[in-house]
Amino acid sequence: MKSKILIANRGEIAVRIIRACKELGIPCVAVYSTADKDSLHVKLADEAVCIGGNSSKESYLNVHHVLSAAIATGCNAIHPGYGFLAENAAFVDMVDECGITFIGPSASSIKLIGDKASARQIAIKSGVPVVEGSDGVIQDVKEGLKVAKKIGYPVMIKASSGGGGRGITIVRSDDEFALAFERTQLEAASSFGDDSLYVEKFIDAPRHIEIQIMADTLGNIVHLYERDCSIQRRNQKIIEEAPSVAVNDMLRRRIGAAAVKLAKAIQYVNAGTVEFLVDPKGNFYFIEMNTRIQVEHPVTEMITGIDIVKEQIKIAFGKELSFKQRDVRINGHAIECRINAEDPLRNFAPSPGKIHNILFPGGLGVRIDTHIYNGYEVPPFYDSLLAKLIVHAPTRKEAIRKMRVALEQFAIEGITSNVEYQYVIMHSPDFIKGNIDTGFIARLNVQLEGAIK
Ligand code: ADP
Ligand code: ADP
Ligand code: MG
Repeated sequence: MKSKILIANRGEIAVRIIRACKELGIPCVAVYSTADKDSLHVKLADEAVCIGGNSSKESYLNVHHVLSAAIATGCNAIHPGYGFLAENAAFVDMVDECGITFIGPSASSIKLIGDKASARQIAIKSGVPVVEGSDGVIQDVKEGLKVAKKIGYPVMIKASSGGGGRGITIVRSDDEFALAFERTQLEAASSFGDDSLYVEKFIDAPRHIEIQIMADTLGNIVHLYERDCSIQRRNQKIIEEAPSVAVNDMLRRRIGAAAVKLAKAIQYVNAGTVEFLVDPKGNFYFIEMNTRIQVEHPVTEMITGIDIVKEQIKIAFGKELSFKQRDVRINGHAIECRINAEDPLRNFAPSPGKIHNILFPGGLGVRIDTHIYNGYEVPPFYDSLLAKLIVHAPTRKEAIRKMRVALEQFAIEGITSNVEYQYVIMHSPDFIKGNIDTGFIARLNVQLEGAIK
């Protein structure tokens, strides 16, 4: 049977997947909401099907419409991208029932490891260190308080199904606990359709270090080293790099081995990311696994030369991984800046609207993954990611210099973006020295506010 892939996503990741399909010679079908009718992924795909109205619920999250589009266009595989249905086990079950290949892990893997509370338990059983916390899901405030007392404040209340930095609340004392618990429960129910929560110790000034995993259906599991994603605003990444300045060869081996061990424990297949926090002493703790392609996968592609999306597709069709662990080498340094439609001077408020003029940077080692173009109207209904600007250079210092030049030459007119804000970060002495942890942005914003006043 000839392959044909439906891409159940929008924006830059849909464009990224279309490119991989075309390079592999596989026809692809885009789906789109009414708000996205003029979007680039619709124009670039071989075919496109409208699946519903503006809101994600009516379109990109509408399981029946997505499946009908796949069947009507004769697709035998679905790539989910990230967000939307990518980590929805019930959707994967339905895809299987329709005899369509899901380009990702099995529904059972998603159920086991996609749920954060359950993932913690698997990590503990496999001997992978986790952040101290509750044994599983916390039933009520009383039980939560008991756990918090035992591990000591501050603690974090986290939604089992959370993602994108949401559904996480820091709690500093007994008095704050009950209200924080109720709020997080409400947010989890409305955002993720699952109100289960668990409690974790708050790690002070950690780095976010994650390991890219690739696994085929023949049992080969390989890691593609680490990414440092410590530059975050409200638990949401905005800059990612590889390799990490905080990871030496010894830690690299240990953390890579821990990630592979976890993936092996659940016979994981396809691309996945095992996320860890690394404390200032160099101890690492598992926090969650993302069972999908990640936003920041390009930095790993740049330093390893491996096309992760093409590998995902080949794995889904039963092919063996085209490399062994010993073939994967780190070459140079890569940095990604997420370019968002948001206004840093107005507390990062979203700034949708029409792009009147655009100039993309370029040159050796400069990559842009985006769906925006001249005249494109950024809809207000989805997340604010406009583009990912990725640079690759022999050293971290050269990569930072290259990123500065690229940001200088990146013009987006008509809407407000965070291009200049990223430019400021590229000149921060702490960033340049690699003195970064997940509190970096909060500290920088306090400094900037002081400087402007
Ligand atoms: P990554 O984990 O790849 O770095 P993000 O955390 O920024 O990426 O998430 C990428 C996109 O996927 C965002 O639009 C985010 O809102 C969405 N997303 C991530 N996890 C979930 C989830 N569990 N439920 C719903 N949406 C999610
Ligand atoms: P998401 O699914 O939203 O990506 P994660 O569990 O990966 O949620 O956490 C997102 C971010 O929140 C982490 O990268 C880190 O910055 C912060 N975080 C999560 N858990 C802890 C913790 N126990 N201590 C300190 N920071 C944490
Ligand atoms: Mg995460």
